[in-house]
Amino acid sequence: MSPEEITDAIKSGIDPYADAIDGTAVRQALHPPLTDLLCAIHLARWFSDSDPLIGPFPPGLTLIRVADLALRDRLEDAMQLVLPFAWEALTPGPKSFPDNAVLVTLEKASSFSKSDPREKFRESLDDALAKGLGVVALATEPSDLSEGGRMLLVRDVTWPVFDGGAVIELLRATHSATGEVAEAELRARLSENGKIANLPWPVVNHAFHARTSLIVADRLSAARLPANPTPRRTLDDVCGLPEVTGELRHLVEDVREWQADQLDWSDVSASILLHGPPGTGKTMIAEALAGSAGATFVSTSYAEAQKAGHLGDYLRTMGQQVDSAIANAPSVFFLDELDSYRARHKSGNHFSSYMHSVVNGLLEQLTKLNEAPGVIVIAATNHPNIIDPALIRAGRFDKKIAIGSPKKDGIEAILSGHLGTDAIPLGDLSLRLVGLSGADVAAIARAAKGAARRAREPLALCHVLAVVDQRVSNPDLEHIRRKAIHEAGHAVVGHVLGLKSGHRIFVAAVGGGYDSPVPPVMTPDMADRELAMRMGGRVAEVTFLGSVSTGSGGSEHSDLGGATDLAIDLEQEYGFGSSLLYSPVAPGDRHRMPDELRDRVERRLRGAEECARAVVEANRHLVERVADALIEHRELDGDELLRLLTRDEVDRPIEEAS
Ligand code: ADP
Repeated sequence: MSPEEITDAIKSGIDPYADAIDGTAVRQALHPPLTDLLCAIHLARWFSDSDPLIGPFPPGLTLIRVADLALRDRLEDAMQLVLPFAWEALTPGPKSFPDNAVLVTLEKASSFSKSDPREKFRESLDDALAKGLGVVALATEPSDLSEGGRMLLVRDVTWPVFDGGAVIELLRATHSATGEVAEAELRARLSENGKIANLPWPVVNHAFHARTSLIVADRLSAARLPANPTPRRTLDDVCGLPEVTGELRHLVEDVREWQADQLDWSDVSASILLHGPPGTGKTMIAEALAGSAGATFVSTSYAEAQKAGHLGDYLRTMGQQVDSAIANAPSVFFLDELDSYRARHKSGNHFSSYMHSVVNGLLEQLTKLNEAPGVIVIAATNHPNIIDPALIRAGRFDKKIAIGSPKKDGIEAILSGHLGTDAIPLGDLSLRLVGLSGADVAAIARAAKGAARRAREPLALCHVLAVVDQRVSNPDLEHIRRKAIHEAGHAVVGHVLGLKSGHRIFVAAVGGGYDSPVPPVMTPDMADRELAMRMGGRVAEVTFLGSVSTGSGGSEHSDLGGATDLAIDLEQEYGFGSSLLYSPVAPGDRHRMPDELRDRVERRLRGAEECARAVVEANRHLVERVADALIEHRELDGDELLRLLTRDEVDRPIEEAS
């Protein structure tokens, strides 16, 4: 055929590559046994390139991982049919299939029987293995196998996602007289990644009844997906975090390009760790990203997966959620409370072997997610420092984004966003709310709307003010001044000792903070300076006000809590003290530290306090300057703070010149 004739044929729905040479006989199966065919195709792929030393059916266990229970049922029948043929084709010899190898399937749990189907499955596995047979097992994952099965596992394959490539392979068998199909054209028609895998099997079967390969492809790509749980919230609903939403909008663009086959998924930075205090919108951001990208949102957390029961069930539940994210790509897989997966050595002895398995299971799943095209992984944590380092090592998450409590402008945006109006002047009021989380601010807006509704009045500033007065005490100036001196103390000690400057400092009726980056790697000298910076707030309070307040302690996340943790780690984990022994102390064991260790930690903290005191004494003017600015503006960003801290350095040449 000439190129023009080929184009014309394709246009009219005829696949010229598939027709026999005389142009007539397209071999089209009437009731194409698609599952059987798929089975044969995958078996051929797995076994034809199998290791010649172990052969296609080695005397041991071949695990085929199939997470979807319905598919596993269908596959069992298909395998029973196909395996004997595969056996004969690949293992020429006197013995036929059932005599030398068997298929064992893990059935789904029945609501009539209380027994765990895994018990029967494991018994059958062990029976067959004891007889020296080759076993092909259909199950979810290696933890389903018996102990003997796990030890004799020689091949571990995962049932592939049903995609355009698989459709084309099927079409070669069902709709071609030659084994050829119009591959490029079919790929173009089936290009919408992630869509085919989601089609229910009857829809796929229906499509395969079409006359030609091209019409099958058209039917598959025209089939509308069942309702996709894409969240309704989008990035437009996330207020006051322009850097974060800006970055995520790039990711949304990348997803679109990937869907249009213009971008390879391996070029997309698709895993993000969001860290920051509770209520700052981490969950919302993940959901909004899915909403904007038109992606499925799959959300889980340690607590949620724990509900599944014991370890095996927990890992299985997690695995099912992961598979669902992969099968429904594009999707956002959201893993909340990542800090629940505590560092294995820090979670106390009785807990650590359980945690070890949990963290290993999660690592396996994360690897799977990281490799799956179209799946964005977002993890959230309130305490990035206590997560098992293996979970957040370089490469596991492409980006780590800190989300703090919103700044004044952000608060104003969240308020007006949740109030649904820009008409109420919220500037002054927002200042009072600095220090609250986005969730607190949203709750204030909801309460104000509720109050207006109940009073049957149009929403106005007075409704918002009433809620704020009720929930946020009026700023007590003395308290604000103490907080300002405290936060300024941290900033000045850090700056003078040469630590990286913080990106935000603020004081509020409800707390305050100095957000400074923790150095990723520390020398002993840097660690001492970091400790001194953490003591800077307390020391400044004593220097300027003559006393300390409770503001430096009270929780494991307070200045003293963090400084104590760091000092213990320096002594017991980093070899910065008198011993080189690696001997971590679990948080639960800290109150029972030996006296000798307590003394060493105490000495470190006292030393840091002395150092901070010397810096504050010598730089009183700097502390006062930053504190005054804080009292006036309540919050400063990194640049504003740095300008205040370095003003003298900039001024000096001018003074000298005059
Ligand atoms: P986190 O996951 O960090 O604990 P959430 O995402 O659960 O916080 O936040 C709770 C609620 O607070 C959100 O559903 C939303 O209504 C509100 N919220 C928090 N931050 C923002 C924000 N930046 N913009 C709009 N609403 C926000």
